[in-house]
Amino acid sequence: MVKYIFVTGGVLSSVGKGVVTSSVGKMLQFRGFSVTAIKIDPYVNVDAGTMNPYIHGEIFVTDDGGETDLDLGWYERFLDINLSKENNITTGQVYQAVIEKERRGDFLGKCVQIIPHITDEIKRRIRAVAEKSGVDVVLTECGGTVGDIEGLPFLEAIRQMRLEEGYENTLYIHVALVPILDVTSEMKTKPLQHSVNELRRIGIQPDIIVSRCAKMISEDVLEKISLFGTIPKNAVFCSYNVSSVYKVPLILEKQGMGDYICRRLGLTPNRPDSKKIEEWRRFVDSLENCKYAVKIALVGKYTGLTDSYVSMNEAMKHAGAACNTKVLIDYIEAETFEESPEKISILRNYDGIFVPYGFGPRGTSGKIAAIKFARENNIPFLGICYGFQLAVVEFARNVCGLENANSTEIDEETPNPVIDLMPEQHQIKYKGATMRLGAHKIVVREGTLAHKLYGATEIYERHRHRYEVNPEYIGILEKNGLVFSGRSPDGKRMEILELPDKFFFLASQFHGEFKSRPGKPSPEYYGFIKACLDRKLGKKRPEFKEGKIN
Ligand code: GLN
Repeated sequence: MVKYIFVTGGVLSSVGKGVVTSSVGKMLQFRGFSVTAIKIDPYVNVDAGTMNPYIHGEIFVTDDGGETDLDLGWYERFLDINLSKENNITTGQVYQAVIEKERRGDFLGKCVQIIPHITDEIKRRIRAVAEKSGVDVVLTECGGTVGDIEGLPFLEAIRQMRLEEGYENTLYIHVALVPILDVTSEMKTKPLQHSVNELRRIGIQPDIIVSRCAKMISEDVLEKISLFGTIPKNAVFCSYNVSSVYKVPLILEKQGMGDYICRRLGLTPNRPDSKKIEEWRRFVDSLENCKYAVKIALVGKYTGLTDSYVSMNEAMKHAGAACNTKVLIDYIEAETFEESPEKISILRNYDGIFVPYGFGPRGTSGKIAAIKFARENNIPFLGICYGFQLAVVEFARNVCGLENANSTEIDEETPNPVIDLMPEQHQIKYKGATMRLGAHKIVVREGTLAHKLYGATEIYERHRHRYEVNPEYIGILEKNGLVFSGRSPDGKRMEILELPDKFFFLASQFHGEFKSRPGKPSPEYYGFIKACLDRKLGKKRPEFKEGKIN
């Protein structure tokens, strides 16, 4: 019998529910249970693909091409599992499905209502994930905050699931902020009490409360939460601030949360495997106790919100941990180099230059200037997606002498459209879920840097793009020394580029960061960080552990 754990949030959003959910999953894995995780996003968008990363954070891409909430990235990284687009449920999807059924006539004669039709569709989707994954425990995190109007049908659906699945198979965890007042340094539980009351008003009595606080809550605060939340003291836990989110499973485990959940759900064994905890602890330590450090300049257009690059940030950390190196990232707004071109020389202070994904013209001249600087000064460079495309533009202009070469995404009238819309994109009218998405096979050419890093001639990586290298320009780019070391199986789509005469100059059309995991870094990120370190240490060329990564 599958067990369901539901995670709700109170007081504020962004208090780390995603990390708590992932940590609960990790504690279950410490005990050998299989888990999957669902994120519910109560917004009306069908998926996150049409949202601005600057407001909502990164769009996480799954193997099957889902454009999902960034919490799925946390689940995948913590739990080392591959999720599907079905693991992200939104109001848009639920209504779309119900309205489609209504139009088909499936409800003929009936009045279609939020209860039961919308709530039934929500439950059906949660159960479908349970069935397809065949796991022991399904974690479902409800986005937003209890009390939001748009979240109500989802809370109603999970309330009903207690009745249908049984008390022993369902568990509600409420995560809420306990602020500390500046003036008195007091921990205040009143907002948490209110959010628990709101949850009860809807008909859900939490089984566990996780207080999210800057520090470990004191005994009297814990007692207060227990009293007003009507839950035993040993069901109150605290997720306090830690130097790395990967520590959260360890601090909650230490407080007894894993044991409590297993006892409550009748999951045996309820004691964790110390070897599995040790393995996780070793990774956490490898992030912090590093012998070396490298400084990376991330030149992008969403630099005001580091969550827009969350998978990239994490991939850098995973790569750093694999070579005993702490990675420090400075987020530099690409437009800086357009407004003050002389500022480009600040890039000399970095061990590596990284140009991430992006859309639209803003900031692209600044990114191109940064790529040129990396190439001319032989500073290790990694480009991802737009970073890959702009590296082609830079090379076309400054090495091949192709005047005003550009991507047609930036300049439709360019005389040299080295990056152009993929042919199949021309007919597309709808923006939602129509990019080239998800995992696709890439053939890696032997004897190249990419082959050395991946240790394979066939790899699968995740994509999200509309434009590509224009096949008409491949000849001239190659003639001038650009090596396309990864291509689609038919050889027509360029996937990886490199400059063999540089210390490290590599870019990919795909996003290696989406598959990066603790202890299993993405090869392209690993290569980049190792190169940054080796150059800093004065080595003649980077020394990679060939084919041993991932
Ligand atoms: N804007 C580019 C494209 O659509 C790159 C996309 C990206 O960086 N994810 O192809």
